Amino acid sequence: MNRVFLCHYSEVGLKKGNRTYFERILETNMRKSLQRAFPQEKFSVKKELKRFLISFDLDVPVEKVKAALESVFGLENFSPVLSVPLQIDQIEEAALYLMKSRPERTFAVRAKRSDKLFPMNSQEINVRIGAKIVEETGKKVDLTDPEITCHIELMRDAALVFVDRFKGPGGLPVSSSGKVLVLLSGGFDSAVAAYFALKRGAKCTFIHFHSYPYTNKFSQEKVIDLARILNRFQFNSSLFMVPFAETQEEIVLNSPEKFRVILYRRFMMRIAERLAKKEGLKAIVTGESLGQVASQTLENMAAIEQVTTMPILRPLIGLDKNEIIAIARKIGTYETSAKPHDDACTRFMPKHPETRAKLPQILEVEQRLDVEKLVEETMNKMEIVEI
Ligand code: ATP
Ligand code: MG
Repeated sequence: MNRVFLCHYSEVGLKKGNRTYFERILETNMRKSLQRAFPQEKFSVKKELKRFLISFDLDVPVEKVKAALESVFGLENFSPVLSVPLQIDQIEEAALYLMKSRPERTFAVRAKRSDKLFPMNSQEINVRIGAKIVEETGKKVDLTDPEITCHIELMRDAALVFVDRFKGPGGLPVSSSGKVLVLLSGGFDSAVAAYFALKRGAKCTFIHFHSYPYTNKFSQEKVIDLARILNRFQFNSSLFMVPFAETQEEIVLNSPEKFRVILYRRFMMRIAERLAKKEGLKAIVTGESLGQVASQTLENMAAIEQVTTMPILRPLIGLDKNEIIAIARKIGTYETSAKPHDDACTRFMPKHPETRAKLPQILEVEQRLDVEKLVEETMNKMEIVEI
């Protein structure tokens, strides 16, 4: 029974006027994800009455389909199903076939008629199939808390019978919300922040600032690996690698130690904004979480974002570090983020960074730098890695 899969979407179904827009993107993303997992197999994806039906020409491993669909945001749940003609004895046979192989002792039957033309109503179907299952398997009916549920969905030209329902990742289809630029550092937080942006339908482009040759190539490899892992949720990614050492040297030479991190970050933001505008990206995403480290106090965040007019999204603002780590484990970025690396900002890190930056002071210090020239030169040295 591993040929046909029924998929339900979640929030997409609530969109009234725009529903077809979201459905179209979701369908494209499902196709791409399945194509990636099954480059050889033939399959079709069809929309029917707020559902999608995937049909493979041949049987496929459920686990592999599961892995492919679990990364498609917008899906609420999905099930391997038996698709049979709209006849009660065929439905009954399919239900028995599925239930006989299952160890659970209590069950319920839940029929749903999307197409009301079928001669029996849902309750009549439940009663008839339920009685047959009791008779043939000895299982007991429990309508309040069944161990297993036999679902029957009556479509226009087939009945779908199934017992397994796997949870989808929820959210909105990637690309339905537009495009954003994620500041990806190599640590735990920014990768998780990217995951949340993807989950809400934002297609992500990545930017990473490195201090090569002061930091090693390994740190860059690590960021490329993270972008690859995140690419599971979209289908191609661009990662911009920005050589940042020269700008940092200028800052170190010309400004008091305690302001360094804020100044680095102001340059990162300027460069990020310029790239975002060039690439048509509508917001900047960071892994900041309020108060987590010195640069993430309200005063410092304000001093940093003062250089840009772009919306800055901080999906982790309300999360504790241990919650962030738990999500990193779930989405598969933990091991890579945990590897040692040299951060562009720990390099030249001051011993006592300013925690409550005063903007006039920062502006005064920054005047000693040729901001435009540094930004322009750095923009020209950026390299792009396509994933
Ligand atoms: P992370 O775990 O993502 O590195 P963090 O807890 O180390 O975050 P900071 O070092 O203060 O916090 O960085 C805050 C945010 O700034 C990061 O989440 C990331 O979005 C961005 N950022 C920091 N350093 C870099 C970098 N070298 N390249 C790109 N973005 C960076
Ligand atoms: Mg960091």
